[in-house]
Amino acid sequence: MKFGGTSVGTPQRMKEVCELITRSSEPTFVVLSAMSGTTNSLVEISDYLYKKNTEGASNIINKLEQKYMKHLDELYTTSEWKEKTEKFIRDEFNYLRSFTKILFTSFEEKVILAQGEIISTNMVTNYLLECGVKTILLSALDFVRTDKNAEPDFNYIREHATKQLNDNPDYQIYITQGFICRNAYGEIDNLLRGGSDYTACLIGAALQSEEIQIWTDIDGMHNNDPRVVENTMPVPQLYFEEAAELAYFGAKILHPTCIQPAKFAGVPVRLLNTMDPSAPGTIINNEMQHGTIKAVAAKDGITCIQIQSSRMLLAHGFLRKVFEIFETYKTSIDMVCTSEVGVSVTIDNRSHLADIINELKQYGTVSVEDNMVIICVVGDLDTENVGFETRACNALKEIPVRMISYGGSNHNISFVVRNEDKTRTLQALSNTLFI
Ligand code: ASP
Ligand code: MG
Repeated sequence: MKFGGTSVGTPQRMKEVCELITRSSEPTFVVLSAMSGTTNSLVEISDYLYKKNTEGASNIINKLEQKYMKHLDELYTTSEWKEKTEKFIRDEFNYLRSFTKILFTSFEEKVILAQGEIISTNMVTNYLLECGVKTILLSALDFVRTDKNAEPDFNYIREHATKQLNDNPDYQIYITQGFICRNAYGEIDNLLRGGSDYTACLIGAALQSEEIQIWTDIDGMHNNDPRVVENTMPVPQLYFEEAAELAYFGAKILHPTCIQPAKFAGVPVRLLNTMDPSAPGTIINNEMQHGTIKAVAAKDGITCIQIQSSRMLLAHGFLRKVFEIFETYKTSIDMVCTSEVGVSVTIDNRSHLADIINELKQYGTVSVEDNMVIICVVGDLDTENVGFETRACNALKEIPVRMISYGGSNHNISFVVRNEDKTRTLQALSNTLFI
């Protein structure tokens, strides 16, 4: 069971989490994020330290410490656990202060970023112990590790997570930190922002859990973006591939990378709502529901680049040359459309755009459009099911569509539209596909 920052955002929420995790009598592995806002504060502290502004860093450290100290009275009832946790938090903040006196590098930054999860897991563990629940805190730094490519080292995680469980039998609750890990050199590192979902899926897959539950503050993955579109509904079930496309193309509820380990291990992932625990949420598993369109998601901040050249006509190797330029600048391409005289691609990382355009000009006439959005429709779009693309296209008959991609997988049809048309595009798709 994984709980995000909002779900452990106050002492009251922490208690509710403890209520949820102790419902089952089965041993449960629990992954926690830092309390909401904490990782952002730690990033800010690091930023000041990079700039050698120790006063700026100290101010945030002090403010954050005061905030944590206030939680103690609310969370614990006995002076024993209040004092124990108070000492722990004081030590943590003194540790943070020690970074204002040393040379600051990215190594120190990662150590600082790790403290949010270390604090939240200690607070919750102490609370459970105070309540008399058989609980153990296992440090993620002892068994979550990345390899030399900064990818999770799955074999290592499986071996060491299993060993941790075998060495500590007979606990009801096993708590660990999301997000944080060690790298291939044994240094403290992390799985990038929002990485706690990834931790949960890696551990759930490594231990062959019955189920991986991701608890957030929304009742599952919705069939469209609830911040933009009216009357969205939670999707009861998604195929792994569908969930991966939705997460990548904008559905904020799940970190895009975390589906793979669960899929390979065949462990279902259930998305649930801490604020409404009895809501069914969304289950992501290996079942494909034939003939259904499941959901729509949008990815903002897209740039379209079109390269047109009569030299492409009947030539081979044109696409390779174009793609090599993107590769040189480590810029990944999301969508591609080709014709005999041109190719359009989309990117979301603009940091090398000027260089890329400059080099592309060797091969054709280049035009660029910013502020575009990829709208992705996900479901069973197998070519046997005639007519889905027509339904999706029909919904957009009033909207200028810049690119369409269909056939790349059996689960997705994507459209690129201008940002100013995003809301009406999403609404039109909802109105057509989900009524
Ligand atoms: N605390 C980390 C972050 O805010 C990881 C997470 O919450 O998933 O990015
Ligand atoms: Mg989070």
